[in-house]
Order: sequence, then structure tokens, then C-alpha cells
Amino acid sequence: INTIGVLTSGGDAPGMNAAIRAIVRTAIASGLNVKGIMRGYAGLLNEEIIDMDKQSVSEIMRRGGTILYTARCKEFMTEEGQQKAAEILKKHGIDGLIVIGGDGSFRGAQKLSALGINTIGIPGTIDLDIACTDYTIGFDTAVNTAVEAIDKIKDTSMSHERCSIIEVMGRNAGYIALWCEIANGADGILIPEKEQFDEQDLIETILSNRLKGKKHHVVINAEGIGDSNRLAKRIETATGIETRATILGHIQRGGSPTAKDRVYASTMGAYAVDLLSGGATNRVIAYKAGQFTDFDIDEALAMKKTIDEYQFLISRLMVMY
Ligand code: ADP
Repeated sequence: INTIGVLTSGGDAPGMNAAIRAIVRTAIASGLNVKGIMRGYAGLLNEEIIDMDKQSVSEIMRRGGTILYTARCKEFMTEEGQQKAAEILKKHGIDGLIVIGGDGSFRGAQKLSALGINTIGIPGTIDLDIACTDYTIGFDTAVNTAVEAIDKIKDTSMSHERCSIIEVMGRNAGYIALWCEIANGADGILIPEKEQFDEQDLIETILSNRLKGKKHHVVINAEGIGDSNRLAKRIETATGIETRATILGHIQRGGSPTAKDRVYASTMGAYAVDLLSGGATNRVIAYKAGQFTDFDIDEALAMKKTIDEYQFLISRLMVMY
């Protein structure tokens, strides 16, 4: 390997910059060249490729988002698009590519690997929805942002003796919601992994909690489970308790990364460079059972993410009433 390319793809996540910095600096320290590819696969197809040196990643660690920008790209989903991308990489002398993103981005990396480009994926998503790993870049920052926001909503909800529906992000994964439930406490949690959610049961829980003297109520709703505003209206109608929905939204995607996201993202970035230097391809970096490791991308994509049942159980056992 002579030249490593790096791109960020799919949804951005705080800590991606720390990974980019680690890739650039460790690769250069090992005598490799590094090129930054802007705007994910879309930028690759548009040949938005820049040279990177140690200085080009100065002072980016503490910034959220990704200095390389990110995008989704339909053209790259086609075989012609992938062929064109591989040719562009070869033209620029890029023989190793690091893709920071989610499962979709790894599918793209898999295709490029089959076309002769050594590729390594790094899990970057606030959703923690990648099956092969217990850690993804950005989750820690996102969940800390959500916990802080929910604390604040709880203050005002308590003063007004309201019910609050708080919608957190996570796409099809309930991890942010589950962590918030344990970290903030809630009367109910709606997550995609647990389909047996019973709205009537939630309404009865709220009513019986009110009878027992509970002054305010919090329901954490994972993105993708349903319309939080409509749920709030239905709960208000059924319970007579003033109910408001707050959708936390993109606030969870931004902000300065936590120490954990900076350190883990940096480690994964350096690890990816090591793998490429050793001649590896079609691998994805993971943090599993307390260790940094790597998997074949095909194997990683075939794994199924499930919710941590023990965490789910204790989150439910800790409700007050
Ligand atoms: P994430 O990487 O966060 O899962 P997406 O699913 O949006 O985000 O994927 C990001 C990009 O990766 C897509 O816009 C597309 O360019 C590429 N991609 C996704 N799935 C595939 C696939 N099956 N084959 C090739 N490229 C893909």
C-alpha cells in the first residue's frame, strides 16, 4: 500500500474527525500518503479528492460533524458507478480505502474490495445499529446529549405536572432510547426491537402512577416507532394529563465528541491503517467484548443486531411504581 484514501459516508457522527485525524497522522508516520475524499461516494464519483498532511487535521478533534463532509449517493449503488469509482481511485493512486460510516457504506466498501481496492470500514453512526460491534463512533456523544436534554425537559415537565413524550434518534435501533431510559428514568419506552408495545397499557400505567401520587411522566420514544405528536394527543385525551412531545432530532448528531468517542475513534482510525499496511481488505473494525478487533465485511453484514435483553430488563425493573 502506498496511498490511503479516506471518506465519510451516510449520517455524520461526532468523533468522525478524530478518526480522520488518526488515519492521516498514523499513515503519514508510517510513510504512506493520504488523500481525503469529500462527500462520501458522491464526492468520489465527482473526483473531489484532496491531499492531506499532518497539518490538515489540526484542531479538528474537538469539532462535531466531519471535515470531509458526507453524502448519500444513488449512482454508486449501480455496478457502473462502482466500476467508475474503482477507476477513479486507481487513477489517483489510491490503493487502500477507509470508509467511515454504517452498514450501507460498508456494502459499498465490499463492492470496491471485489474490484481490487483494499478497503476497511470503520463503524461511524450515532445509532449503534451495527451488529458486529458494541461501539460505534458518535453513540457516546449522542446519548450524552440526549440524556442532558431529557434532564432539562424533566425539570419543566415536573414543574407543570405534565406528561412528556421525548423522541430520540436511532433509526431502526432503540439503543439511544434504552440508554436514556436507564440514565434518565422513564415511565415507558418505545423501541423498535420490542414490537409488543401496548399503548393502552402505557395509558393505564400513567393513570395508575398519577393515582399513586406521581406528578410528572416521561415516555421515551425511539425514532421510527410512530408519530410522537399524535401519541401525545392520544395520551392527553385518554388521561386528561397535559402531554407534550419533544423531538430531539439533529441536536443529537452534533457537538464536540466525548473523551470516549475521541479515544475510540482515534484507536479505530489507527487500527484501520495498520490493517491496510498488513495487506488486509474487506474488513470492518469492531469493538467487541472489551477489545478492538476486526471482521470480514460479509460476515459482519450477516450478523443481526439485537437489543441487550439484560439492559432492557433492568431498565424496566427500575421504574418507581
Ligand atoms: P449508512 O452507511 O449510515 O448505513 P446509507 O445506508 O445511506 O448509510 O449508505 C450510505 C451510502 O453507501 C449510500 O448512499 C450508497 O452510496 C452506499 N451504499 C449503500 N448500500 C449500498 C450497496 N448495497 N451497494 C453499494 N453501495 C451502497
